[in-house]
Amino acid sequence: MGNIIEFAKKNRVIHDFCRVVRKPAFGYRLEIHLADHCNLNCKSCAHFAPLAEPKFIDLNQLEQSLRHLSEIGVERHYHAVHLQGGEPLLCPDVEEVCRIVRQYLPSIKIMLITNGILLPSQSEHFWKAMNRFKIEVCMTVYPIELDLDTIRKRAEEYGVFFSIFADGDVQWRRRPLSDKAPYSKYKNYFQCAMFQVCNQLYDGKLFMCPLSAYCGHLNKAFGTRFEQKKGDYIEVEDIKSLRQIKMWNALPHESCKYCAPTQKMSWDISKREKDEWI
Ligand code: SF4
Ligand code: SF4
Repeated sequence: MGNIIEFAKKNRVIHDFCRVVRKPAFGYRLEIHLADHCNLNCKSCAHFAPLAEPKFIDLNQLEQSLRHLSEIGVERHYHAVHLQGGEPLLCPDVEEVCRIVRQYLPSIKIMLITNGILLPSQSEHFWKAMNRFKIEVCMTVYPIELDLDTIRKRAEEYGVFFSIFADGDVQWRRRPLSDKAPYSKYKNYFQCAMFQVCNQLYDGKLFMCPLSAYCGHLNKAFGTRFEQKKGDYIEVEDIKSLRQIKMWNALPHESCKYCAPTQKMSWDISKREKDEWI
């Protein structure tokens, strides 16, 4: 078995094929933006939050989308829902969003992904809601001062599962883009850590990844021309089956031509300059 894995690793095409047919270790997740903007504004943010104008989730649209997705059984496809942004705790309706997601996806793992800045000021009402709707609160740790022990204790006090999602300082990477679309969509897609893994439910549409969902912020800020073509997304109301989602995810999209290989970088605050993303 070990030899087969080694052989596959040395042979890129086979390796890429294996990644497509194999379910990723942590399963597929559905990400939902509660706020497009953020109170931290990291350099090269993959969700373009430093460039986004303040915008919160539309609760009616969310409910409509989730009702439809639950009817076709998305809980059998996605392993978890990530409530994020931007910074989700900026959203005044965070508890209501949790209620709606739990109502339509009763068995799914729901994680609230936050930079933690607003966690110490959350009310008793918030923590009780996290407990009631079985929401795991996950923090990405950035090199900013936050009292993690106090946050952890507060979560414990209310019986809320608290975890560290990632270390933003150590694992910080950027994915440079080119709106001339010069790359091979097949090569990019099959080697991309985001492929199939993090679909975005945004404005009543399902997108493959954050780039395809939120590139509008980049276009607005710098006049770039990253296109969101039909096929890069599906209107939720047009989804008839789980199979349709799986087939749509299984092949590269036109937007995959924009992505250069990822680069490691040091975490920093954004100056909102074009070369952070391009
Ligand atoms: S905290 Fe997260 S959403 Fe906010 S700017 Fe940083 S990476 Fe982007
Ligand atoms: S557009 Fe394609 S290659 Fe680029 S991040 Fe999204 S899935 Fe990956």
